[in-house]
Amino acid sequence: MDVRAQVSMVFHLDKCIGCHTCSLACKNLWTDRPGTEYMWWNNVETKPGTGYPVLYEDQEQYRGGWIVENGELRLKLGSRRSELVNIAYNPRLPVLDDYYHPFTYRYSDLIDAPAGGSQPAARPISMITGGDLNIEAGPNWDDDLSGSPVYAANDPNLAVLSEEDRRQFFELQQLVYFYLPRICNHCLNPSCVAACPSGAIYKRGEDGIVLVSQEKCQGWRMCISGCPYKKVYFNWNSGKAEKCILCYPRMEIGEAPACMHSCVGKIRYLGVVLYDADRILETASRPEGELVEAQRDMILDPFDPEVIREALNSGVDRKIIESAQKSPVYRYVKEWRMALPLHPEWRTLPMLFYVPPLLPVTATLDQQGNYETETDFFSSLQSARLPIRYMASLFSAGDEAEVIAVYRKLLAVRIYKRAQTVGDISMEAARGALEEAELTPEDVEGIYYLTALAGFEERMVVPPFLREQVVELGIDVQIFQQERGAGFLHWPKRGL
Ligand code: SF4
Ligand code: SF4
Repeated sequence: MDVRAQVSMVFHLDKCIGCHTCSLACKNLWTDRPGTEYMWWNNVETKPGTGYPVLYEDQEQYRGGWIVENGELRLKLGSRRSELVNIAYNPRLPVLDDYYHPFTYRYSDLIDAPAGGSQPAARPISMITGGDLNIEAGPNWDDDLSGSPVYAANDPNLAVLSEEDRRQFFELQQLVYFYLPRICNHCLNPSCVAACPSGAIYKRGEDGIVLVSQEKCQGWRMCISGCPYKKVYFNWNSGKAEKCILCYPRMEIGEAPACMHSCVGKIRYLGVVLYDADRILETASRPEGELVEAQRDMILDPFDPEVIREALNSGVDRKIIESAQKSPVYRYVKEWRMALPLHPEWRTLPMLFYVPPLLPVTATLDQQGNYETETDFFSSLQSARLPIRYMASLFSAGDEAEVIAVYRKLLAVRIYKRAQTVGDISMEAARGALEEAELTPEDVEGIYYLTALAGFEERMVVPPFLREQVVELGIDVQIFQQERGAGFLHWPKRGL
């Protein structure tokens, strides 16, 4: 057993309001430089929808991630040799139009306009060339447009639905959408790292954050093709690749990543998990239907004495183990089995997890206008407005049982708390619901607390990393933070 630590996140999608504050916090901090205008290390998509860059989930086109062929795990992109053939011309890259052409307005057209008979207008211009632009796309262009057959109908995940299901899905009274915030998944089996011919991308030993060495990067852009989530970007100004750094300069002084710190819906949970690195290859090579369970299996119990002993042997700091014992991510992913990885079938072992949004109709109005809460799981799930098959395509490599199990838990928590607080459901029925969802009343209180009441310190549990060393050395934490923040392009590899 080779025990390692990984900083990980859970996104509770029922709580996301699609405000994009996270995206703006990230943009203001990291990608407001020339060459980064089109980059959104954090973006929030409307689902169903085509995402950013457009249709990034279509791996027949982009060939990102891994496949198992003749029993062996290999990059879907092809061998190193085929990579070399394509190094000067790579057809598997999104082009600028697949993201969007960054634009601003020529405000001088307004300010300097001579007096005249008609209202002046500011023309849109390219932020790259400065020339006039006909705007055809932008960040979040399909925001809230779930019902539009022009955008949402092209969502690759809808391919798993029958013609009839698709037709019903786009009926007006059926319309529904949810938000999907995305950052780099800091994967355990990162295909971006494997695809890079220069060895410029690496995974930090102490926390598993995946970074691009700006010194080593030669700008080949194979990482962009290799990443199925399209979370590496090319800076046209510096000629280097860039990506989400999980705000490690902030975390090293005890601050939350900017996206998490600013999250209005409090949907994000951050914590350390311990995992067995010896099982990466075997886990990533499993048949599709087993991938979620196998990935969950890799995550180790931080209270198990054997795990603690092996972790210490592998050099994991005792403070990190203590932090893993308080991790909200461990609770959601492993203990309660409620958070699932996005597109596990791409086999990168993503280390961000999502609690899928609960979209069934859970209450109806009776003749007197009173709410009747649904206690029958089966009929609730049957009335799910987004088909389970669609959610399974996103979060469990098509395994509908995984999604249903999570929905059962989400419904059971609501039913039990309603029985407790409103009293219009009998406790007997509520206990039956818990049993069916394999939850105990203690689990429900824990889930309810972490979902609805927990403060920031409980939602973000990271080990102090270098903070104590900084304080011990008598360095002003704020000055340290500024210097590390400003110097992030030099990517110091480890520690001070
Ligand atoms: S999400 Fe993409 S960029 Fe991030 S670690 Fe995984 S493969 Fe690499
Ligand atoms: S800030 Fe939070 S609630 Fe708002 S879009 Fe981002 S993840 Fe969702």
